[in-house]
Amino acid sequence: MTKHAKIVEVGPRDGLQNESVAVATADKIAFVNRLSEAGHMAIEVAAFVSARRVPQMADAAEVFAGISRRPGTKYAALVPNVTGLERAIDAGADEAAIFAAASESFSRSNINQTIAESLDTYRTVCARASEARLPVRAYVSTAFGCPFEGAIDPAAVATVSAALMDMGAYEIAISDTIGIAHPGQIGPLLNEVTRRVPIERIAFHFHDTRGTALANVLMALQLGVTAFDASAGGLGGCPYAPGATGNLATEDLLYMLDGLGVETAVSLAKVLDASTFIEEKVGHPLASRYATAHKAARAR
Ligand code: MG
Repeated sequence: MTKHAKIVEVGPRDGLQNESVAVATADKIAFVNRLSEAGHMAIEVAAFVSARRVPQMADAAEVFAGISRRPGTKYAALVPNVTGLERAIDAGADEAAIFAAASESFSRSNINQTIAESLDTYRTVCARASEARLPVRAYVSTAFGCPFEGAIDPAAVATVSAALMDMGAYEIAISDTIGIAHPGQIGPLLNEVTRRVPIERIAFHFHDTRGTALANVLMALQLGVTAFDASAGGLGGCPYAPGATGNLATEDLLYMLDGLGVETAVSLAKVLDASTFIEEKVGHPLASRYATAHKAARAR
């Protein structure tokens, strides 16, 4: 198994975007700073999207302006189009993230575009990002299942992944949007996708909605994948199962990786500091099993 893995911390963006409580700009900044102090090399800070559609991300530029940048850490912004990318460049983002779906009906429902139309948009985004020397990372959503179509053919995931790589994305984050993936899907999906995309350029974005996220990571590690998304505390619910758990918690992932001797350079104790801080701000207990156990032990 690999000796090193990369964690992409998505709590400030994917996490907070899916929380119903509005978090103050200063608290978002303090949260990102704590995540930087934890040693994260990659943090998705905010999204430059429509403030009307996604009010949680309306202060993205202010958050970027307020954070303390740790040398070596990449601070990324999610962008849906060139307008978003220009805002991300102006804000000083180190990297842009784009998102396409593997499911046609999800694409239409989520962004009102066919997959092909969204890829056309992202081709323009990637061209402009390249001009601005901004690396682009791409998510492929609904890769393991779609709320409308059910099962998704791994070949469809491979096709979208290859298109995103060909237009310039350096890493493809294959994402379990509805938290349905199980370890039996990882091998068949990788078999298909690695015919088109080298395994070093594949990351996984798992949700723990059905309790399978860590098992999926372990399977993926054994098959040679070394990059994983996670969210401090497990911040962010599941938009397709209200009340259910979403993102894999960074603490839970780190506890397993640390135990396996897989190095990440990220401090579990300091991620816990960050999630404890943000838990107070979102006003409900976060889903991380590690954090829950830690709190229970301290309360004894
Ligand atoms: Mg997510």
